[in-house]
Amino acid sequence: MQIAKTIADMKALRTKSLGSVGFVPTMGYLHQGHLALVKQSRAENSVVIASIFVNPTQFGPTEDFKSYPRDTERDLAMLEKEKTDIVFMPSAEEMYPEGFNSWVDVEKVTDRLEGSYRPGHFKGVATVVAKLFNIVEPARAYFGQKDAQQVLVIKKMVADLNMNLEVIVAPTVRESDGLAMSSRNVYLNPQERQASIVLFKALTLARNRREKGERNAETVRQEMTSLISKEPLAKIEYVSIADAQTLEELSEIDKPALVSLAVRIGKTRLIDNMLLE
Ligand code: AMP
Repeated sequence: MQIAKTIADMKALRTKSLGSVGFVPTMGYLHQGHLALVKQSRAENSVVIASIFVNPTQFGPTEDFKSYPRDTERDLAMLEKEKTDIVFMPSAEEMYPEGFNSWVDVEKVTDRLEGSYRPGHFKGVATVVAKLFNIVEPARAYFGQKDAQQVLVIKKMVADLNMNLEVIVAPTVRESDGLAMSSRNVYLNPQERQASIVLFKALTLARNRREKGERNAETVRQEMTSLISKEPLAKIEYVSIADAQTLEELSEIDKPALVSLAVRIGKTRLIDNMLLE
């Protein structure tokens, strides 16, 4: 496994890569959710490139950029075990040098949900992913359904800007009790970890209600809200049942819907989602 710490090194390794390149962008502190993307990329490409970059521009001023968990040595061992060929680990100084002035702003689909609670977040995400795509030039890039709105934003950017690659989405990997794996789960103390199951419980409730024939989105939103509210450590930011493509809130669940939620458990902000086809 080769490690590129500068953009020039990454481009030099890319030039020497033969066959299709599969790319897995991450912010590190890897878990099985990330590794599932690496495994799929390994199965589908001749060369697998992963990046580890905690992207400062996608964090708001009051968010956890500084405290975001980092463990490069452990990450590299995990990537090596999955037969990653190249790991790109640029510095923030090189990615955003003084005078950096160009941004990718995907409109509309970023107005809601995460976009409305984290202003500027998707501008940071789209910009860094566009930069990484330009540096790595993958044939396929792998993203997790865990970040459902991010997937829509990246797909829209790739389509609108005619980027020459395929975006591949892999299912959310969960702990055995349903909690979606996330680097941020490390923030949870044992009580909070227990309380965090409420996100999956609320999503499961939505799926069950829909399967039993409920079509009224507001009824389901209210049932989810009331279930989460019974958990004293949980504070809801949003509970959404939206059109899976446009993210417009639904009144009738009469088309593919994305059920998604953001909940604070203590100080930790967790997101999760489920698709109702
Ligand atoms: P992050 O390091 O949080 O930026 O995530 C890097 C990639 O891994 C993104 O495409 C995420 O959507 C994906 N990912 C994170 N957690 C999970 C999970 N539990 N299951 C599947 N994919 C995930």
